[in-house]
Amino acid sequence: MIKNNYMNRVYQELQTKFGHQTEYLQAIQEFFSAIEPIVDSHPEYESKAILERLVTPERIISFRVPWLDDNGQVHINHGFRVQHSSLLGPYKGGLRFDPSVNESVLKFLAFEQTFKNSLTNLPIGGGKGGADFNPRGKSDNEIMRFCQSFMTELSKYISEKQDVPAGDIGVGHREIGYMLGQYKRLKGVELGPLTGKPVSANGSLARTEATGYGVVYFANEVLKEDQETLKGKKIIISGAGNVAFYAAQKAQQLGGQVIAMSNITGSIYDSEGIDLKIIAEINATNEQNFANYVIKYPHAIFSKESVWSRSIKADIALPCATQNEINGEQAQNIIQNGIRYLIEGANMPSNTDATAIYNQTNDFTWAPGKAANAGGVAVSALEMTQNAMRLKWSFEEVDQELEKIMNKIFLQCKAACQTYHLGNNYAAGADIYAFKNIVELMNIHGII
Ligand code: GLU
Repeated sequence: MIKNNYMNRVYQELQTKFGHQTEYLQAIQEFFSAIEPIVDSHPEYESKAILERLVTPERIISFRVPWLDDNGQVHINHGFRVQHSSLLGPYKGGLRFDPSVNESVLKFLAFEQTFKNSLTNLPIGGGKGGADFNPRGKSDNEIMRFCQSFMTELSKYISEKQDVPAGDIGVGHREIGYMLGQYKRLKGVELGPLTGKPVSANGSLARTEATGYGVVYFANEVLKEDQETLKGKKIIISGAGNVAFYAAQKAQQLGGQVIAMSNITGSIYDSEGIDLKIIAEINATNEQNFANYVIKYPHAIFSKESVWSRSIKADIALPCATQNEINGEQAQNIIQNGIRYLIEGANMPSNTDATAIYNQTNDFTWAPGKAANAGGVAVSALEMTQNAMRLKWSFEEVDQELEKIMNKIFLQCKAACQTYHLGNNYAAGADIYAFKNIVELMNIHGII
């Protein structure tokens, strides 16, 4: 419950205007409850409309994306780019192609991205975009036509100096490649109007691995606080994309035992440890059916249930799928399963009931996506640096830099927790650190 009058008024006004934008309101509510002590001690924020400026994107671009399927049928999707904040630099954040995409989801993601990017201490503003297009089951030509049509419109609003999108759910190397090609046809050659490019197309080494590796580097720091390590810890990971896969790979490299993973088809529990080779093989098929894991490992148990609803004893949870994948009941189940650490690889994977339960549970530590998954966008910024320098760094150089950035983000969250007596509430620590950064920049820039 927020008590501050100014915060309540701003939130209520948003509710009246955007009552149907549930994800956007959820992200703001969580953020507001974390920063309340700061706002309490700065009554001047109200006359400067700090909060109103903070929650309102600088610009929302919304456009029609017509495309032709292989049978000659025309389809229309809705494309967006939310340019939330340029205070720190060019707008930066991924593009998501998924049927769940709408203005609310992208406004929440762009809002979160602004603070995530500020936590990296790199010169990148916050943005997010995408379309309600489902790439699943589409042919390669259909994907190319969709990407070309999407970029025909988006190219009017982006450039390496202005706004630099990257991938997200449903947007990988293939999609980035087609969008890059179309961008060059329309606007001329630029090395970096997008990041997350294939390495052969001036992408950065270790960008594909970065988000997942970063999540585990962050988890490692959280564990260190309790004089613990990943060695021998049982880990559950959700999500079908790069974040989950490379989080699993890094966790295994550091001695953790990944015993369960999941995707949209269901979840697999392998008490002897997941074989990532089989997961990679399954991911490369059209159906991506996790049930096929048991063909190779009959002792493993597949279930159509969410991995967060199953009864699997473990130490660490890494939700790396999507927003609100964990509800209150599943949060209870996670705690009953003995899990003591939950490090978010996805953006806002825990709903409000779930985070309330985490915060009430003793001997339980969680870290929010905006801190723990910042490794992806951080390496995107390193990709921009390499493009600007006309240089290519080795995998090891980028990976080492990533680890340093994740350590620093952790230390910033911890320092905010200490200053504001928040214990191990890293979610509040991350929000407070990022908020203070952004407010300082707002003051520097004047009323814009
Ligand atoms: N989509 C990723 C994120 O949520 C990466 C964004 C980027 O690399 O610009 O942070």
